[in-house]
Order: sequence, then structure tokens, then C-alpha cells
Amino acid sequence: MIPYAAQEITEEDIQSVEAVLRSPLITQGNVVPRFEAELCNYTGAKYATVVNSATSALHLACLALDLTAGDWLWTSPVSFVASANCSQYCGAKIDFVDIDPLTYNLSISALEAKLQQARVENKLPKIVVAVHLAGQSCDMQAIHELSQQYGFKILEDAAHAIGGRYQHSPIGQCQYSDICVFSFHPVKNMTTGEGGAALTNQARLAKKMALLRSHGINREECSHSKLERAPWYYEQTALGFNYRMTDFQAALGISQLHRLDKYITVRQTLADKYQQSLKHLPLTLPHIETHCYCAFHLYIVLINTDQGLNHLSIFNALRQMGIAVNVHYIPIYKQPYYQKLGFPSDYCPNAETYYQQAITLPLYPLLTVEKQAYIIQSITSLLQTEACT
Ligand SMILES: *Cc1c(COP(=O)(O)O)cnc(C)c1O
Repeated sequence: MIPYAAQEITEEDIQSVEAVLRSPLITQGNVVPRFEAELCNYTGAKYATVVNSATSALHLACLALDLTAGDWLWTSPVSFVASANCSQYCGAKIDFVDIDPLTYNLSISALEAKLQQARVENKLPKIVVAVHLAGQSCDMQAIHELSQQYGFKILEDAAHAIGGRYQHSPIGQCQYSDICVFSFHPVKNMTTGEGGAALTNQARLAKKMALLRSHGINREECSHSKLERAPWYYEQTALGFNYRMTDFQAALGISQLHRLDKYITVRQTLADKYQQSLKHLPLTLPHIETHCYCAFHLYIVLINTDQGLNHLSIFNALRQMGIAVNVHYIPIYKQPYYQKLGFPSDYCPNAETYYQQAITLPLYPLLTVEKQAYIIQSITSLLQTEACT
């Protein structure tokens, strides 16, 4: 099977991890802070808090932004469930903003219409989670303008998007957001095994996330002065978690980060090849906005079902040909957990249309030209025969 995504682990990666494993501190040494400094350097953000997953990073981000019971969090329905689940950890309420039919990211016009309505009903969101689907940034400037008008915080779910750019700035710089979250799961653009990070330019938010990442315990700032307190003394001042990343994972992260730009270039080249080779088929190919440099975590095509093509049978046929296509994503409100919260199963019309047609083709740095040619040839012959039947 050709997977839809896969990591690359090099000899240097293994050596970096090994060096930490052979050192006295395999966690809570100086490698996590070094990884954080490198992430700041790469993105241009002032602060980075590295954690054990993007899910944890989203949770900490919501807590840092004071999301509590009674508050609303809005996000896109076309995302991984974690983008919405962070609201539920905080006891907040969740709602979904339909997607843009061109980019499949949260629709700015749908967001604006929903905000106008919410203002009338006094139900404005505290946080909007902007998901950069497939590695293409949302229209952050427009979301930022709306945030000024309606007073919400912006959390970027950039789990797909590290290495991408928006208006020439690296995603993660937080120019138009409060916090930006990355994932380092092996299917993503770079990996630490499990792992994530939350970037921000606001010292207060960074401090709060760092505190909550490690039990709410602070060793530096205590109510007693250093002179008064015993050498073993520390204080827990908030209810935190153990969301820490280990130092050997951070070593892998540093090593991978050094290859990230190369990876994105390969992803771009493979995406270009798909774009050129598939454009004559009854498919809708990715649309990339001019101000975006897409990290191409995913290459998503829409099967033009209005031309008599069947989504499920094409999906199954490709799997049978040894191509592990996937669907990103089942609209979150369709999940049984969210259905129980009362969302109709066809809540967002554009997300519904998208979901009936979307297929993710394999795309990752180690995908060979030969394998990609096989994928292209398989889809081409399949769609030509399907269209005739
Ligand atoms: C993968 C993913 C996450 C969660 O990342 P983890 O590091 O696995 O917790 C969150 N949001 C999106 C959009 C993702 O694709």
C-alpha cells in the first residue's frame, strides 16, 4: 500500500535522539528550550511552548485565552476533531462556521454573517479557531479585521501548516492571531513522534501555557522570596497538566526542523505534478490563493460527482489498487459526540458537498516519482472507465 502520508527518519535524526538518550537528562533538560528557540527563530514568533501533542497545545491555548463555561468557540467543521474538542475540555460551547467552497477553509462571508447574528443574540464567540486545511492559510487578515470588530480571540490550528507562508510571513508568526498551534505527529509535515507547539507574541499567554504544561507548578516565581524559602520549595498556583515533551523528542524535532523547508519544496513539486497531470480529469484540484505559500500537508481532490462519478466506488477502487487514499474530514458535527450536542447531520451545506466528494491522494517527501506516476495513471484510467459506465 502507498500510504497517504509518511515520515522520513534519517540517520542524523537517530543520532540526535541517541545523543539525548545517552545523556543524564532525557526529559526536562535543555533540548526542549533549544527546540522552542529554533521554532521562534523559524517562525518569527516571540514565544514557543512545546508540548506532547497539538491537542494539548489547543487545550492550553484555550485556557490561556480564558475560555470557560458559558463561552463560545467557533471553528471549521472540515477539520480533525481536536480543533473542536478543545472547547469541550474547557466546558465551553461549540459552533461551526461553514467552509469556503474554493479553499475549504473557514468562509469569511459565513463567519461575518454568523457574527452579525450572534451579536444580535448576544452569543458572540470568545475564540475562533482558524484551521489551515491541507497547509493553506486561512484569510487571516480578514479574520483579524472581524476580530477587531467583534472582539474575539484568534487561535490558529496550523497542525497542517508548519513550513507554509501567508503574505510572505511564516505561518506561526502570529501576525494576525493570538496563538498558533503546530502538530508533530508522524503524518504531519515534520515529526517528534507525538508532539505539538503553541506560538505567541504575548508574554502573558506564553507564561500561562508554560505553567499549565507542567502541573501549574512554578519554580521561579513563588510567593516567598528566595531568601526565605527552603531549597526544596516550589509552588503549585494553578491546576495544570503533564503535557510536556521529552528532550529526546525535541532532539528529533530540531533535526527535522532543519529539513522542513526541503520537505515543503518536495511537497510543492509533487503537488505541481498532480496539478499538471490531473487537470484534464473530472476532478476539482486544490485552489491556492495568491498570498499563500501552501505547505501541502494534504493533496485533496474533489470527485465531480455531478458528472456521474461515485465517490465511494472510486475510493474503494483506489484502495484496491494499493493506494491508501483517505478522506479529510468527516464534518465534525456529524460525529456521534457532536450529534448528541444537537447539531443537525447536515449542519453546514458547503461542508456537506465537500465531504461527498473529497479524496486525499498520497503526498509526502519520500513519495517517489515512480509511485506518483502509478497513482496518476491509476486515477486517470479509473476515472475514464467510471465516466463511461
Ligand atoms: C493532527 C491534527 C490535530 C491534532 O494533532 P495531535 O498532535 O495529533 O494532537 C489537530 N488539528 C488538526 C487540524 C490536525 O490535523
